[in-house]
Amino acid sequence: MTTKYTLNETDIPRAWLNIVPALPSPPPPALHPGTLQPAGPDDFAPLFPMDLIMQEVSMEPFIEIPEAVMDVYRLWRPTPLYRAHRLEKALGTPAHIYYKYEGTSPAGSHKPNTAVPQAYYNAKAGVKKLTTETGAGQWGTALAFACAQFDIECEVWQVRASYDAKPYRRLMMEVFGATVHPSPSDLTASGRAILAQNPDSPGSLGIAISEAVEVAAPRADTRYALGSVLNHVLLHQTVIGQEALKQFEQAGEYPDVIYGCVGGGSNFGGLTFPFLAENLAGRRNTRIVAVEPAACPSMTKGVYAYDFGDTAGMTPLMKMHTLGKDFIPDTIHAGGLRYHGMSPLVSHIYELGLIEAESKNQLDCFAAGVQFARTEGIIPAPEPTHALAACIEEALRCKETGETKVILTALCGHGMLDLAAYDNYLSGNLVDYDYPAEAIQAALAGLPKI
Ligand SMILES: *Cc1c(COP(=O)(O)O)cnc(C)c1O
Repeated sequence: MTTKYTLNETDIPRAWLNIVPALPSPPPPALHPGTLQPAGPDDFAPLFPMDLIMQEVSMEPFIEIPEAVMDVYRLWRPTPLYRAHRLEKALGTPAHIYYKYEGTSPAGSHKPNTAVPQAYYNAKAGVKKLTTETGAGQWGTALAFACAQFDIECEVWQVRASYDAKPYRRLMMEVFGATVHPSPSDLTASGRAILAQNPDSPGSLGIAISEAVEVAAPRADTRYALGSVLNHVLLHQTVIGQEALKQFEQAGEYPDVIYGCVGGGSNFGGLTFPFLAENLAGRRNTRIVAVEPAACPSMTKGVYAYDFGDTAGMTPLMKMHTLGKDFIPDTIHAGGLRYHGMSPLVSHIYELGLIEAESKNQLDCFAAGVQFARTEGIIPAPEPTHALAACIEEALRCKETGETKVILTALCGHGMLDLAAYDNYLSGNLVDYDYPAEAIQAALAGLPKI
């Protein structure tokens, strides 16, 4: 009985997989917020170094990973693929459940897969400081670590709700050398505007992005880094799915269905795009399902429209599934999934009908997380418990029908710094939030008219 599929260092992918040229049509372009014309590379130049901008719009099927990035990847890659025999047994299912575990990285999640190349390309372009936002703190931790590798400063705006609830994430960022502010902060015009409306604002990723962008854009030696949503971020994450393909060869199986949690879409894209490429090439036909929180349902309840990536409306406009940039989700524990929009690339692929989406309530997710921890021995971050809940549901369906389906998910992070959330759940204090229909209606009314 094999439980763990490991690879050798030589099996780390040498290139990132770009799904865009394999699609029947490319995603609609980002628009300049002033002219509403397609944004060109120069429009992104105040925010990102040119290497990343070119990756954002690349039509090359593969992009070689620089050796300096490979060197850092080798600290934790390849990551293991596990067969969840113990969970299968507890469920009494004939299904085969696999999980690709990204919690072995320095940050404890998939985020360093893109933080490292982003810091590398910025350092190569002479950038001295990166600013960013973070929700649960995973992205800030990953970027703080990556900046330390390439000797750049890192300044982070952390969503207030998480800053208060998760002090250990802030401390990790500080140990790695970053400066951390709660967002909304009084350090930026966008933060002060929100505080004037609501001094107790719990913050949101959209607000924190506005603050980080506002600080980076006017400075020549400072750039901004985004931990999800954009094409280049999803591109970097494809090391996950490429390794998983090789590991399934070892296992002599192939997934029938993949469930991935989606906040901005990066771990989902990273795991599933290499499998989607197999589907698109006509070699396979795997079902691919994105799972989002019922409290922040951009794919299942949002609209597909041009919207800003941030609350203050400073970023280029992107066509994506969105709840409206002014939507502030309830403070669910899966802080990494509290974003009003969805990756434009994942949104486009969803519109093309190549993937499906569903939503889950947090109580069901924590129940799945606890069952997973007790059987497999890893305490999952609250985010991937959304996908685990969907996997368990599928495995129980297989029990009814007797199907031996092969199910795959990304266990994209561990929950060792999310124990307060588990405490809440175990002590019965965790609640499900109603579908926030009115708040979403109000936020959608504010969509830019295009
Ligand atoms: C950031 C994060 C997410 C959400 O971001 P995606 O871009 O959708 O992957 C999910 N899980 C974990 C563990 C995270 O750190």
